Amino acid sequence: MDKILIVEDSKMFVSLLTKRVTADFGLTCDTCSTYQEAVNLFAQGQTDYLLAVLDLTLPGSPDGEIVDLVKAQGIPVVVVSGRIDALIRDKILEKQVLDYIMKGPHTLDLLSTTISRFLRNRHIQILLVEDSKLVRDSTQVILENQKFSVIVANDGLEAVQKLQKHPDIRLVITDYNMPKMDGFELTAQIRKHYTMDKIAIIGMSAHGNPLLSAQFLKRGANDFINKPYFEEELVWRVHQNVEMIMHLQQLREYATKDALTGLYNRRYFFEAAGKFYAQAQKENLPLAVAMIDIDHFKQINDTYGHACGDSVIQKVALVLRNSFSSADIVARIGGEEFIVMTSQKNSKELHTCFDQLCQKIAQLDIREKQEKVSVSVSIGINCQLENSLDKTISHADELLYEAKHCGRNRVVSNAPGD
Ligand code: GH3
Ligand code: MG
Ligand code: MG
Ligand code: MG
Repeated sequence: MDKILIVEDSKMFVSLLTKRVTADFGLTCDTCSTYQEAVNLFAQGQTDYLLAVLDLTLPGSPDGEIVDLVKAQGIPVVVVSGRIDALIRDKILEKQVLDYIMKGPHTLDLLSTTISRFLRNRHIQILLVEDSKLVRDSTQVILENQKFSVIVANDGLEAVQKLQKHPDIRLVITDYNMPKMDGFELTAQIRKHYTMDKIAIIGMSAHGNPLLSAQFLKRGANDFINKPYFEEELVWRVHQNVEMIMHLQQLREYATKDALTGLYNRRYFFEAAGKFYAQAQKENLPLAVAMIDIDHFKQINDTYGHACGDSVIQKVALVLRNSFSSADIVARIGGEEFIVMTSQKNSKELHTCFDQLCQKIAQLDIREKQEKVSVSVSIGINCQLENSLDKTISHADELLYEAKHCGRNRVVSNAPGD
């Protein structure tokens, strides 16, 4: 269980912060109000904290000594203080803290943002491309201090290889002048394969040439930073670019996924199915379309209520999602109607797979106020590639209606021998 350490002598602030941390993140907090209490806590072997929020001036720690004590235990630190002037700021930054925050009306909000960023960073991979070992090592330390997961490359060519090996990289920070492949060429290469909503790029250079930043941006970089950089500037540019990528990713989710089930929505289906169909035609690949419709769903709604109906849709969707690989397209295209497009199986295997799916859904144990809710689906599978996508889908629809007319809870396909 992740815990946060708070060392702060204002009881009021501790109480507010503890409540906020529990409400926002479900994390528990240990608290100390003096330097000595923190010493005692560590002496008992309590050092396993996700991060510590420290008041800079405390009884027993008039001048930020608490930061050194906590950092010595390997705990990442956020400093809060009533007074942060240029001298204090430099002193705090020297100690490599995660962030420093002025006490004021927005302290709790700022702290909450810092903690959520920190929790998120643990899952974000950054590729750092730099031929100078000195700059690479020091930049890596700064990024790792923010809990990012950092992958390094010595030049553009190595960076391309690392990108292929680590598909989860979300941000590339690249130097301009490097052997084998420079930062411009690398940026252009990345943009051939990854759009701006997949990977952000920050260009970096020491050349003092104002044209460099424009050239980076023109080739598809999102941002630029001059070397030598101020640590704080680097950190904030990185945060902003990562945040932008996360927002774009979320927008993409909203635009392509169905909110109730998390499956792809109708719009995405037709976009992706068009490409899928064109490729199958071009390369003469097998392709099948299955239409799946929940039986007598109106009756489920009428008998048990709309909320129960929603829950039935979610459970059916989950069975569907778990029955296919990411190479197939599984989508909710209407209220209680789903569609699957696949090129993975031959028609016989496909029929067996959907038969099993039908049985799994009929065996779902769904209850509403202890009463068992009977759920079944009918499925029509068109295993043949017709001369248009529309025709391929409407033929699957016809087979589905045949399944409905033949008594529901069954699969009808046009596989040979069916
Ligand atoms: P059949 O076996 O012939 O498919 O009959 P059916 O009752 O399943 O088909 P019908 O098309 O008559 O009814 C579908 C119902 O699904 C009507 C609509 O109110 C309901 N529905 C559509 N979307 C949702 C939804 O998101 N949630 C819930 N709970 N109901 C929905
Ligand atoms: Mg260089
Ligand atoms: Mg139905
Ligand atoms: Mg229907």
